[in-house]
Amino acid sequence: MPVTHATGWGRTNFALSRSEQPESIGQLGDLVTSTKDDRGILAHGLRRSYGDSSLNSGGLSIGLENIASISIAPETGVATVGAGASIRSLEYKAREFNLFPPVVPGTGFVTIGGAIAADIHGKSHHVTGTFSSSVERIQLLLASGELVNLLPTGESASQFWATVGGLGLTGIITEADIRLRTIATPFVQVEETREPNLSRLLNALKSADSDFEHTVAWIDLSGDFRGRGVVGKGNYENHPHPSRNKQSDGLSFPNIGKVSLINPLTVRAFNEVWYRKPLASGKKSLSAFMHPLDGVQHWNRMYGNSGFFQYQFVVPDGNEDFIEGVLATMRDAKVASFLGVLKRFGAQSPAYLSFPKPGWTLAIDIPQGVKNLEAIFNSLDEELCRREGRIYLIKDARIRPEHVPVMYPRLNEWQKVRALMDPSNLWQSDQSRRLNLC
Ligand SMILES: Cc1cc2nc3c(=O)[nH]c(=O)nc-3n(C[C@H](O)[C@H](O)[C@H](O)COP(=O)(O)OP(=O)(O)OC[C@H]3O[C@@H](n4cnc5c(N)ncnc54)[C@H](O)[C@@H]3O)c2cc1C
Repeated sequence: MPVTHATGWGRTNFALSRSEQPESIGQLGDLVTSTKDDRGILAHGLRRSYGDSSLNSGGLSIGLENIASISIAPETGVATVGAGASIRSLEYKAREFNLFPPVVPGTGFVTIGGAIAADIHGKSHHVTGTFSSSVERIQLLLASGELVNLLPTGESASQFWATVGGLGLTGIITEADIRLRTIATPFVQVEETREPNLSRLLNALKSADSDFEHTVAWIDLSGDFRGRGVVGKGNYENHPHPSRNKQSDGLSFPNIGKVSLINPLTVRAFNEVWYRKPLASGKKSLSAFMHPLDGVQHWNRMYGNSGFFQYQFVVPDGNEDFIEGVLATMRDAKVASFLGVLKRFGAQSPAYLSFPKPGWTLAIDIPQGVKNLEAIFNSLDEELCRREGRIYLIKDARIRPEHVPVMYPRLNEWQKVRALMDPSNLWQSDQSRRLNLC
């Protein structure tokens, strides 16, 4: 069995594991039942999780890339998708039928298995909720080798909701039924506004939520870190019509593919260009709007060999001063970062470990090597706990284990369901061991 070297998207965590890519669900079942290993088994997708969620050092790591078929029933709008298929390939196939997945993340290079295991969210969270809101069935391979169908209601509901957001620790997702939404055209009507400071940015985002299905803000992480930024808003185009402008390039990031060294000068220049760019108004292709970074290959290498963390948190309404405090902390620590994304979340999903809850979420890329970074993170985490906020586990590489039950108060319920599904503790990851999740 080959041993491979793997890393999360942030390139801060590495693992050596034995790796397999079974050709079929039957072969996958044989592999799982024949593996006896103290370090257990973990499925992985396209390794777009940032830290160690998809890594299993010293154990078995199973890639689902060969289990990736997609079939769509246009009359019901339901897609049956192999867990290794990417969101991007589902989008392409769905568009042939004027359909589209209702919830997509900022990159299309995420598998259906990874999307369910993280209960991902998109720019539409305030309207559609998380990815699981469109999942009608999960087919899961249990540690016993049994293949089960889990549904969001009824007898299997607790196992369904433990698997959603369950970080691959309840079994291997092999297939799912996803309810798609109809679209009139493959375009989104986009508007942008430029906001000079944080309070204007927050107000603009808040008021956009009632009129737009997709809202997000890019926040300037350079200079005085006062929270200026650009708010992007979009709705699916209702019917084909000529655009007010020619097709807008609005939310795509400028080409930063050739930038290999991050320093305060390159970051300041990038942020300045982005803030001053002409605002978009008009139609934009769905994939360019939904996945603005996908045009730049391997942009995660820009942060150099030591990699970067993505600090993504959510705080309830009324804690806007925490966001301000995080920006001030980043300024004082002289963080140089290209990416800061701010968004409002709507209602919490029924999944025990789902990340989004009502309030504000901010995601910031922070290069490894910033002075006192660990102490900075820990003190922000402590403050987050006091404010009933939480860190997104799928982006985490360094949180302390004692913070997890505070941030995720249903952890204990999840652990009980999980223990019944996997009494021998077969499913493990570097993250599950680091955070004592199981
Ligand atoms: C540029 C970029 C933009 C992003 N934007 C967003 C966003 O807008 N919203 C958001 O929510 N997230 C976002 N993410 C995070 C990403 O959606 C998640 O990390 C997702 O889980 C990655 O899926 P993957 O297929 O790469 O899975 P991996 O990273 O390989 O694995 C992630 C987890 O899923 C589990 N898993 C994978 N496949 C299976 C399976 N078949 N069965 C059981 N468990 C499985 C793994 O064990 C692991 O715990 C973004 C990431 C990047 C790099």
